Amino acid sequence: MNLILLFDDDFLDDERARLTGRRLEHATSVHRAVVNDALVVGVANGKIGTGTVTRIDSEALEMRVTLDRDPPAALPVTLVLALPRPKVLNRVIASATSLGVKRIFLINAWRVEKSYWKSPRLSEENLRTQRILGLEQARDTVMPSIELRRLFRPFVEDELPAIVGDLVAVVAHPGAVSPLPANASTIAIGPEGGFIEQELASLERAGFARASLGERILRVETAVAVALARFV
Ligand code: SAH
Repeated sequence: MNLILLFDDDFLDDERARLTGRRLEHATSVHRAVVNDALVVGVANGKIGTGTVTRIDSEALEMRVTLDRDPPAALPVTLVLALPRPKVLNRVIASATSLGVKRIFLINAWRVEKSYWKSPRLSEENLRTQRILGLEQARDTVMPSIELRRLFRPFVEDELPAIVGDLVAVVAHPGAVSPLPANASTIAIGPEGGFIEQELASLERAGFARASLGERILRVETAVAVALARFV
């Protein structure tokens, strides 16, 4: 937690915030915060600044907050991700968020196991927690959106073309001839087993070009990081 993300209901008044639970625990055990320490804070979807500790005990941390700077620029890339296995989902969401992605679609694909859609990790609460962890990691405050699309074809055929617009869209696929273009604005990453040929063809009709991330076949979480890292 390189930044403590604050929400409206953490504020006692305009400039005082009170934390309990995970953030108190972290400030105590990792930052070893004491009164008068200055912690980096940010307000969800707002500015970044300093929280000067005015009280800290086992019950709560109180701080005086001053906000004086903007969060880092967003990464101008929309991520379209075949729903990964639940174990991987948390890491992918937190790391894509930490890299600055602001719009994420989790979509179905032939090789996405049906049971993944029933995972409790897809709960609004868990997805929010993973995004908060990513924002705190990267000292960002702007919460990305996550949109779930359980039907591949209607999403790709009816919705994606408008999302892509006139910009460059690519689907990362091992063995593709072209490398990832530097101006890609939407990137699709397949499931562990890859997209099937019909899905690649649908994506191509929606304006996507196939792109390679190199000769090595990467795990989904590594592929996401490698693809996004080129825009950081
Ligand atoms: N078993 C599949 C690989 C899937 S890897 C196959 O052999 O084709 C999971 C996803 O990560 C892929 O769908 C792709 O989007 C991305 N990916 C992994 N390695 C890649 C690479 N070298 N180039 C492009 N995309 C890659």
